[in-house]
Amino acid sequence: MPARKPASPVPKIAALLERLARLGRAGRFRNGLNPAQGDALNYLAVANRYSRNPSALADFLGSTRGTVSQTLIALERKGLIVRQTDPRDRRAIALELTREGRALLESGDETAVERAARGISGANQAVLAGLLAEVLAEAQRQNAFRTFGMCGTCIHFQRDGSGKVAGGPHRCGLTSEALSDSDSLLICREHTTPKAA
Ligand code: SF4
Repeated sequence: MPARKPASPVPKIAALLERLARLGRAGRFRNGLNPAQGDALNYLAVANRYSRNPSALADFLGSTRGTVSQTLIALERKGLIVRQTDPRDRRAIALELTREGRALLESGDETAVERAARGISGANQAVLAGLLAEVLAEAQRQNAFRTFGMCGTCIHFQRDGSGKVAGGPHRCGLTSEALSDSDSLLICREHTTPKAA
């Protein structure tokens, strides 16, 4: 009898990720927020100045503008975010966390998934994070979604490109604006992954 081909682990990987996502979301009805509100707050805490607006948030969440608008109204009513006029484009809206919004994020308990991830070794955490990021990037590429990667890993990021200019020392090659060290750690709607060598 011919040897049977071993079953592909791919369906199991997808099922495990689905279960983890469900578990993670179930633990996130807390602090008076639903998961969508929690996701929006978390996003605004790590998004850069080009990405703290309703349309980038909708792209990040894979949600409609209408749904995101309802989420933002709820967060504003709770005093956790404010809408401001974008200083670079007076027709655009910039979303900012309030002090209360930031404090709420910092006081948040860990979800069951976060606690479980903390329970594995540091080396395995790094390997797992890298593999999951790879799967996510591939899924985003296949669906033509934006990657929302970290600024310092973008093809347009120019390390030390703005010298002593205020807001530097780095530079965005797309907008020609200076970027600080802390800007380089934020995620961006315009992030473009460099092509593999
Ligand atoms: S370098 Fe890339 S990620 Fe950073 S601000 Fe510019 S476009 Fe966005």
